[in-house]
Parts: sequence; structure tokens; C-alpha cells
Amino acid sequence: MSGEEFRAIGHELVDRIAGFYDSLPERRITPGESPRIVRDLLGRNGIPAGGTPAGELLDEVSELLFDHSLHNGHPKFLGYITSSGAPIGALADLLAAAVNPNLGKWDLSPVATEIEAQTIRWIAEMIGYPVDGGGGMVSGGNMANFLGFMAARKARADWDIRTDGLYAEPRRLTAYASQETHTWIQKAADISGLGVDAVRWVETDHLQRMNLDALQGHIEEDRSNGCRPFIVVGTAGSVSTGAVDALPEIAAICEQNNLWFHVDGAYGAPAAALPEAPAALKALALADSLALDPHKWMYCPKEAACTLVKNAQTLPDAFSFSPVYYNLDSHDSSDDEPGINYFEHGMQNTRGFRALKVWLSLRHVGRNGQVQMIRDDIALAKQLFRLCDEHPELEACTQNLSITTFRYVPEHLATGTEQAEQALNELNRQLMIRLQTGGEAYVSNAVIDGKYVLRACIVNFRTSAEDIEALPGIIVRTGQLI
Ligand SMILES: *Cc1c(COP(=O)(O)O)cnc(C)c1O
Repeated sequence: MSGEEFRAIGHELVDRIAGFYDSLPERRITPGESPRIVRDLLGRNGIPAGGTPAGELLDEVSELLFDHSLHNGHPKFLGYITSSGAPIGALADLLAAAVNPNLGKWDLSPVATEIEAQTIRWIAEMIGYPVDGGGGMVSGGNMANFLGFMAARKARADWDIRTDGLYAEPRRLTAYASQETHTWIQKAADISGLGVDAVRWVETDHLQRMNLDALQGHIEEDRSNGCRPFIVVGTAGSVSTGAVDALPEIAAICEQNNLWFHVDGAYGAPAAALPEAPAALKALALADSLALDPHKWMYCPKEAACTLVKNAQTLPDAFSFSPVYYNLDSHDSSDDEPGINYFEHGMQNTRGFRALKVWLSLRHVGRNGQVQMIRDDIALAKQLFRLCDEHPELEACTQNLSITTFRYVPEHLATGTEQAEQALNELNRQLMIRLQTGGEAYVSNAVIDGKYVLRACIVNFRTSAEDIEALPGIIVRTGQLI
């Protein structure tokens, strides 16, 4: 592609994207099309033998994406924990792809690696985590949590687990996490070779937080049964209801028992930047490792996640190998500030420049802007809770961080008996499906003590108070059609 052509079609693409951003509030959140319809749209041909002019392709594919996507940038998209992507992040990804550094190794990405290292320190500083530790940018919360889990596995096994594996020790390594913990821990237990039965799902209290007596009980029971407890996972903002575990108390239990303390803050950790954040959330600094997703509450386009560790060496201890073909002493033998080779700090080898969108977002809005956007989301979630509470046909259920849960209870339906509750669960399940495919407002669901509830998670800088005010009306109107 010539420079001239790139310039012309690049400008045109940016114009189209700007128009798309402007059009978001007027669009349906989703066209609600079936897999068959979408496959037919693409056609079912094999790879084209000949080429097509790039400008033509970009015209065609931008229409395709704008008209047949689910728009999580829509102001009334409040489902799962999928945030609106900041425009600066989209530009950052374009720029990162153009320079195309490989952040596996310092010499292949000198300034990019330093931007990643600075981004990691800034995130730590923002949430009150030690800035002299280490970490790395990864694809998502799952991966960020895996890194913490693997660092713990290496650090807390007192044999050479990376060489000898699990077989060298007859006592099973066991992990502790609340029943509200995200499913990543099953994948981590599986791929680390521990097996999913090594996870102890600790009971929760009435606020969906880990029950600390139950945690102590499980640890003691496992010890007396010949297991080797090695990690406790605290959740800072649970995926269903935004519950924050009692992190200081869990840290103390880890300390007493010589266990690694990992915090899953994939969703909630950025809220620790707020001066008014709950005390439990402000205790993130007690964790040996922490996972956080800039592609959630820092509004970066997917994918961007981050692992932080208190002791920087624990990541290379868990992941580093040094093959001869990497020439690792090429630049830093006489330098008292050696560069980081990030391939030694995680699972990936070739690594992309994810940090740029996070770094630019932070610089664009500053700490104050980031804090204000999070604060606004929390205020909107509280507003929604109040509106549901006041509405005769809505029942407000939980409110933590920027997650509010509620359900539709039509006036003619009773509550309380098992039969009535079952009917309400089914009604709300159908309502959620209708809302999700309807395209007007998008929520997801949670199950709390057997109750099927609707769930709005506001990680959306485009959502306004008017959007939230409109929500109860949309929900009840949709519910009445069932
Ligand atoms: C979203 C989430 C995860 C998984 O993160 P991905 O980015 O989806 O991989 C893990 N834990 C919690 C608490 C989450 O909210």
C-alpha cells in the first residue's frame, strides 16, 4: 500500500468511526440476529483467490461491523462487565499496530517496554498498591489471575515444582476462594495441574462476601487431612453483585498460615482510587498479587488486563526460561538499570503493545478524570437502586460499587412461597432474554440465594442520569408483554 493510499483511506476510516461514535445513542444496542443470519451475511465461500482494493474493503467492513454488532458503547448497555471503549484507546491501538513493537524483549521495544513498566507503576499508584513491585500487561482478567495463581504455586511450594511438577509431593496443593469467585479459578486449577477439586469454594455471608470462619475451618481441615494449602483468593468486586471480600482479615489469615494472598480485582480494583472507597477495597496493598482489567473500569478497548505483584521477582521465578537464541545480555551487561524482558514475566512470548491505550487513557483524563468517571458510574448505579426501590413493580435487591440487582415483580404476582418464587425466576429469565435481544436497554442477570435477578453493571462513561431514569419504564413495559 502506498503512503498516499494509506493516508486517503485512513482519513476516510477515521471519519467513519467518528460518525459511528456520534450515532451510538440512536442505534439499537443489538440487531438481535441469529448465527445463521450473520453467517449468511458473510457468505460461505472459501478464501478469495484475488485481492480487493483496501478502500473498498474498509467501506464494506465498517458498515458490516456498525450494523451487525452488539454495541457495548451504547449509553444503555449495562450488561456483564463490558465497558464502553474510550476513543483515545482506539487511536492508541492503531498507533501501536503501526509501530508494531514486540514487547517480549526490551531491545525489540525499548520505549514501548518502558511505557508498559510506567503504566504498571501508575496503575499501582492509583489504587494504593506498592509501586516498587512488578507485574505485566496481559489479555484479560482470566490471564491476569492465572499469573498470580502461578506465581503463588511456585512461591509457596518448597520443592522445585517447575522441574519436578506436582508428583514430587504427595500432599495436594489446595486453593481457597469464595463461592462468588469468577470461573477463572477453575481454569487455573485445571491448567496448573492441580485439578479443579483442589479449589475449596468457601461459603459466603448474607452480603456475598467470603465467610472467614468457614475459610479458617477449611484450611485447618485440609491441613489435618494431609493437604498443603497455598493460596487464598479474595475478590474485590465480585462478578455477580460487586461484593468486596474482607481483604484485611483475609490478609491476616494468610499471614498466620503462610499462604499467598491473591486479590481478583478484575472489575473492582480501580475503584480503590476513590478517596471515599470502602475500607476493605483500600486494603489492596496487602495482596501478594492482584489482577485488574483496564478493559473494564478503565474503559480501555479490549483487550487490556494487568497483573501486579508485590515482589517483582516472583513472576520471573514462576515463568522464566533463558534459551540461547535470545541473547539476553545484549544491551544491559554494563548498565546498572537493566531493561525488563517481559517474556520472562508471564506466559506469552511475542507480546503486543497493550499498554499504550492504558497509558494514553490515563494521561488523557488524568487520575482525577479516571476517578470522576468511576464515581459517576457508582452514583448512577445507586440512582438505579433507588428508582427500583420506589417502583411498585420492581424489587431492588443489591447495590455494590457500580452493580445494582433488581427484579420485576408484577403486582398480581405473590412472592415468598416456593411456587411464587419459581414463577418469578422464570418471568425474570424471560424478561432478561427479551431485553437482551430487544436492543433498547441491555442488562444481564445474577442468581442470589436462589433468586434470579436482573443486573445492571455501569462501567460506561456514556451513560447519563436520563438513561438510568428511562430504565425502569423500559423494563416494566417489556415485562408486561410476557
Ligand atoms: C471479568 C472478570 C474476570 C475475568 O476477566 P476477563 O477479562 O473476562 O478474562 C475475573 N474476575 C472478575 C471478578 C471479573 O469481573
